[in-house]
Amino acid sequence: MSQPPEAVRVAPKACPLCGKPVVPRYRPFCSQRCAEVDLGHWLTETYRIPDDSLDPDEE
Ligand SMILES: [Zn+2]
Repeated sequence: MSQPPEAVRVAPKACPLCGKPVVPRYRPFCSQRCAEVDLGHWLTETYRIPDDSLDPDEE
């Protein structure tokens, strides 16, 4: 019944995108790829890219 204190202090973290172990360098993600994917999500949701095919001003 001897648990190393490290196991208690280090909480198991997983990438919110793919569930892989988090790499400290890319926190809170597991890799740069996942970080970029998440960033892309934010950008597309924040700034809505206007569709060129839809232009109501041009009548
Ligand atoms: Zn990931």
